[in-house]
Parts: sequence; structure tokens; C-alpha cells
Amino acid sequence: MGKVTSDTSGSVPFTVIPAGWYPARLVRMEKTVSKKQPDGTGGNPMFVFGFDITGHNEDPRLNNRQVNFYNVVYGGKDKNGAPNNLNRLLELIGAAGVPWDHVNCGAIDQTAAPVEDKDMGVYLCPACSKSLNEDGTQIAYDPDLFKGRMIKMQITVGKSLNSDEPRNEIRRVRAL
Ligand SMILES: [Zn+2]
Repeated sequence: MGKVTSDTSGSVPFTVIPAGWYPARLVRMEKTVSKKQPDGTGGNPMFVFGFDITGHNEDPRLNNRQVNFYNVVYGGKDKNGAPNNLNRLLELIGAAGVPWDHVNCGAIDQTAAPVEDKDMGVYLCPACSKSLNEDGTQIAYDPDLFKGRMIKMQITVGKSLNSDEPRNEIRRVRAL
């Protein structure tokens, strides 16, 4: 047998999922509190979601791959004492199609997704068109309904904090 040249240029280790959009099912959910930081910030109520990639046939090896640690803060205050931005939560509610209430305007069990206002960087209530990032906004939903829902997620490849090892992150979620 002659020599074989194995060329790995442009490849990524299979431990890393290539950047892109993937269909996934939300299968894990933990309710916790974010880590308290030395400066007193943190300690916010948070969901930690985990997804399984499913039905991604271009590369069957990616089927059932777990993508974990999608942290979604759902209350508390930021470092300036302002209410935390709920954009990630609102994005996930819309992507997963979980019914939700905008308590302030009385829209109950809405299935229409919060509307993203890209210019303002906020989400709006589809019933009353008010910003859902205003102080005093109350939204209500049943977190148990997240489990089992299908979404699509945008996976990016970044660097780990303490090393050059590539690692995946979920950047956005959208309705499938
Ligand atoms: Zn409303």
C-alpha cells in the first residue's frame, strides 16, 4: 500500500458541534439561582435548560447530541439594581410556543410569540404592543410546559473562558 495523506485542515474536533441552526427538543430543565458574585451581583432566579438535537440528518452523528447549560434568568435585578432583562425568556417562550399571560394588559394564555423589536432590543406584547422590558412588567407561564417542546437553536463555537478549547454555545432560539 502507498502512503495515505490524512488532511485535517478545516475540520473541527467532533466534540464540538459545527456552528449553525439545529432542530432540538427541550428535555432537561432545572430551576436554580445564578452564582453570587463577589461584587454582590448574581443570585438571580434562573432556569438551566438542556436540549437534544434531533432529526438532523445531514450528519447523523449529531442526532441526540446533548446541548446543555442554556441559562435563562427569569427575574431578579442586574448589577445596577434594575430588573433583569427577560429577553432570553421571552425568546424561548415564543420559540417553544408556551402559552403565556401578560398580566399587565390581561392577555391570558397567549400563544402568539412576544414580538421582537430589533431596533429597541426589546420584546413587545402582541396583544397590547407594550414593551415587556418595562419596569413592573409581569408575565406568567407554566415552566413545566417547556419540557418536550421542539425548537431550533443557533449554535456558535466560542472559546472556553480558561483555555483555548473550542466550546459550543446556544446563541438564539426560534420556532421550528
Ligand atoms: Zn399585553
